[in-house]
Amino acid sequence: MWSAADSASLYGVPDWGSDYFSVDERGQVCVSANNGASAQVPLLDIIQGLEQRGHAMPVLLRIENILDRRISQINQSFADAIDKLNYRGQYRGVFPIKVNQQCHVIEEITKFGQQFHHGLEAGSKAELIIAMSQLQDPEACIVCNGYKDTEFVQLGLHAVKLGLKCFFVVETPSEIATIIEQSRALDVEPMIGVRVKLSSKVEGHWYEDSGDRSLFGLSTAQLIDVIDTLKQHKMLHCLQLMHFHIGSQIPNIRNIRTGVQEACRYYVDLKNEGAPLGYLDLGGGLAVDYTGASSNETHSRNYSLEEYCVDIVEGISEALDAHNIEHPIIITESGRATVAYSSVLLFNVLEVSHFRAHSLPEALPEHTSEITNNIWLTLKNFDKTDVQESCNDAIHYREEIRQLFKQGRVNVRELALAENIYLEILQRARRELPKFKRVPQELQNLDESLADIYYGNFSLFQSLPDAWAIDQVFPIMPIHRLDEKPQNSAVIADITCDSDGKIDLFANADGEQRTLALHDIKENQEYYLGVFLVGAYQETLGDLHNLFGDTHVVSVRLDSDGNYEMVEEIHGDSIGDVLSYVEYTPKELYEKFRVNAESAVKAGKINVGQRQTMLKAFKTSLEGYTYFEREES
Ligand SMILES: *Cc1c(COP(=O)(O)O)cnc(C)c1O
Repeated sequence: MWSAADSASLYGVPDWGSDYFSVDERGQVCVSANNGASAQVPLLDIIQGLEQRGHAMPVLLRIENILDRRISQINQSFADAIDKLNYRGQYRGVFPIKVNQQCHVIEEITKFGQQFHHGLEAGSKAELIIAMSQLQDPEACIVCNGYKDTEFVQLGLHAVKLGLKCFFVVETPSEIATIIEQSRALDVEPMIGVRVKLSSKVEGHWYEDSGDRSLFGLSTAQLIDVIDTLKQHKMLHCLQLMHFHIGSQIPNIRNIRTGVQEACRYYVDLKNEGAPLGYLDLGGGLAVDYTGASSNETHSRNYSLEEYCVDIVEGISEALDAHNIEHPIIITESGRATVAYSSVLLFNVLEVSHFRAHSLPEALPEHTSEITNNIWLTLKNFDKTDVQESCNDAIHYREEIRQLFKQGRVNVRELALAENIYLEILQRARRELPKFKRVPQELQNLDESLADIYYGNFSLFQSLPDAWAIDQVFPIMPIHRLDEKPQNSAVIADITCDSDGKIDLFANADGEQRTLALHDIKENQEYYLGVFLVGAYQETLGDLHNLFGDTHVVSVRLDSDGNYEMVEEIHGDSIGDVLSYVEYTPKELYEKFRVNAESAVKAGKINVGQRQTMLKAFKTSLEGYTYFEREES
């Protein structure tokens, strides 16, 4: 007997799903914006609503109130820690725009975040322009990181003049001259920060880029230069913020504590140098538990949000109290942890390729080679033989029959028969694996090498670029039929024709595994998969590999009685759109095709009616979705 609850634990939903995702008794993944107790909406209902509104798969679904809730949770957790530890400063979060620049996301963060004075972090002129126009709250911070030219500095000074708290974080020594010069020219007192380069290293994916070799931040000598320059220009009083960022997705809380300790040493000495400071910005790094393992592995984290906040607040107050230094306003730049949960990529499965014997005859046909005979006997004697021995024999004979084929001594029909027998032997061996106390090493990869390939209607490069670029693990699972036991071990391929366009690394409670359990697909019924926790970084790092464009993006808002409202629907790129991104003009393409068709009419290859049909189809395609579209029934 298999239940929906078994599926929930198989896919680790309670581990990575936080309060937002769960499996109901009918075997459907549900989304909830508050907590387990409040209304839960099945994703399948939302998909049906999307299809009724003309949005075919794939779709990126944003759940607006999950984003709201994340912002509340981060702010509330800091407020609780501050309260509990009698910290005499406040918390001000800023969202780093680079993590998700989409207009609707930034608008929601600034609108909902206003009650907490949640601000924005900008790493370029373009991002600063977003921040300056989206924020009106004089209590919220804008933190400018990254390389800054004169124009960048002027923009930021205008923001200060308008009454916004816009900090320039000095990352390289050359910037300070520009800031001094421009603030004089515009007669604005700048709000200056310094980015220190900590020697503390962090575990996880960004290990190599942390510590002394990190790309950004001032070395100790450069820091002293900046202070002396500010003193010379009588501007040390403008130095109000100290910033550090030791890496993203920091899995181990110990690295965070060590970072805070080291940063406080700098903070104390900058104070002693005479800088007023008052703001301590700890950057990003708050990790998301993508695997649900609660461990210090790269795609997990060994701490909770509450623990993160308490450790930071406690670390700062302990370090500064010893020197009688006022508690600063704490800023963090959590990107990933703010937006990851609020987006889900949904797609349908188009086809499955099995590594199974297609059909086996009752008996071997006459006149087969000795090798085919041998592999056949290996199959017949499977039950009487050691599993490993059967596998070894099958592998050996398949090698031999391939040799015979290359030499022209057996035909492709016989090769197909022998390979079918081979697959049957290996599949039977795989079914025996659960009976082993210890699976022999050579058989351990059997599951992986016989895994089915499920072809999903999406592009890895467009929608999950980090899965390709840095082997990021995201929770992936069917969003329905979870009351049925998934019988197949699978990997997932996308529809780009790139052999890298596949997902073969999955999360489980122990960390990671190479295959995912999936159901047989049914005729006349779509099989939908969801990729979860994709709200951070994936949308804008994506590219146009094979010219698959942006998917449709739909934002929903859930209400307390289990209904939802579609608050925003953005149509994905059409084929004409993606062609224009690579400098084609759809109109010209159409015109060139028309000329081709007209010459074909002239040459008598097609008639005028056929020409019209072709032109119409060409035009429809230009306006259509770049992904696989089911024929309308
Ligand atoms: C990328 C980045 C962040 C965001 O980091 P997360 O780990 O996503 O929270 C914050 N600050 C700076 C300076 C960054 O470069």
